[in-house]
Amino acid sequence: MHVAFVPFTGLRVREKEMLEMGMLLPGLRERAEALSGLPALGLLTLAGMTPESWTYSYHRSSDSETLVEDVLQTKPDLVAVSALTASVLEAYQFCEQLKVENCQTVIGGLHVTAMPEEATGYADSVCVGDGESSWLEILADCENRTLKRIYRPSKAFDLSASPMPDFALQGKRNPQRWTIQTQRGCPWACEFCGASRLLGPARYKPVNRIAKELCAVKNLDRTPWIELADDNTLAGRKDSFELLEEIGKANVRYFTESDWRIGTDPKLVRALADSGCVQVLVGIESLNFRYSGMGKKTSELAKILDAVDTIQDAGIFVNGCFIAGADGETPQSLDAMGTFIRESSLAEVQLTLQTPFPGTGLYRRLQRDGRLLADRDWSWYTLFDVVFEPDAMTVAELEKGFRRTGLSVFSKSAAAKRSKIRKQVWSNRKK
Ligand code: SF4
Repeated sequence: MHVAFVPFTGLRVREKEMLEMGMLLPGLRERAEALSGLPALGLLTLAGMTPESWTYSYHRSSDSETLVEDVLQTKPDLVAVSALTASVLEAYQFCEQLKVENCQTVIGGLHVTAMPEEATGYADSVCVGDGESSWLEILADCENRTLKRIYRPSKAFDLSASPMPDFALQGKRNPQRWTIQTQRGCPWACEFCGASRLLGPARYKPVNRIAKELCAVKNLDRTPWIELADDNTLAGRKDSFELLEEIGKANVRYFTESDWRIGTDPKLVRALADSGCVQVLVGIESLNFRYSGMGKKTSELAKILDAVDTIQDAGIFVNGCFIAGADGETPQSLDAMGTFIRESSLAEVQLTLQTPFPGTGLYRRLQRDGRLLADRDWSWYTLFDVVFEPDAMTVAELEKGFRRTGLSVFSKSAAAKRSKIRKQVWSNRKK
């Protein structure tokens, strides 16, 4: 028996002006390329727990113009697909093409976890929630040609039973990036965030398992660059120092996502730097408009910026993430956000549009209020295209304001300033 794993990932942009702007802006193109180069850890993990009676192959959708043919050449008994909201229509179309070839398909990921009934219209089977919980049952049912329409585990997967991902499956890439997950979910529930709750509550992988995964990666790459595929590293974790010490022993360089509050604990920040963390993404979200569900992440901007400085003083770049388009926002407030970001001490910046992904509180609220744009299908849910009616400006004003803010935040002079900040932060590291 053979299973072909096919991830539909990477950055997508629909609107022509945004696409053109994005590709010209310093930093954005590189980030898009880095994202599309990241391995689909969920599928590598399923590969790692696949019984020996099965063989498997991995086909990145973005790497091939002849994806269907490539996959069919492996004569698969099952094709396992993962997709994000922006790429899900491509994934559905792919499943339909395989159906014509009498090939069984199963689809998983956050989007179909939120919209399983929709996905059953395209794939033979839908894997809701943590893939590890259902994978062996799916394979057994496939062998008997009794695949169920939907696999829905009764409880969240226990990360202490995490299988070892087959890291080698992604093959050689340039630049080579590796992903490791130390936790899943988040103690907070920001209204716009799907990752935090869709798969279940916040859970933490035991440190000894993470150590084994680091060891497996190092066996393949002596000097790996790792991106932690976490929702919120360290938040709510009781053994943070033990984890950081273990990562430090592996002698790797890594990026991660956390919340700014780590910057209020200088001892933790020191341990983070000593562990090899080079960059941490923190959600600052917006200047004035705080979302519901942010818990202790909600705070005065000045306090957040103090924490950013503490993190950067230890030699870790902070990538401050901002969202444009929250309720109450106007063209003027978008301009103010642009000015704030340009004048800030942030070493890196990420700016995206508010996007109501299915499964989030934001999606439910905007849908209930009739504010989702009916003519924009899932392929518009890219983080760079407007898909809802703002409450204090028009769609066109938000589109224009977002472009204007993007052009100012990622202008050559702003990028040059951040480059200088990064040099300073890097020199802090060596002190
Ligand atoms: S803190 Fe981050 S991961 Fe947690 S709910 Fe908010 S956006 Fe999601």
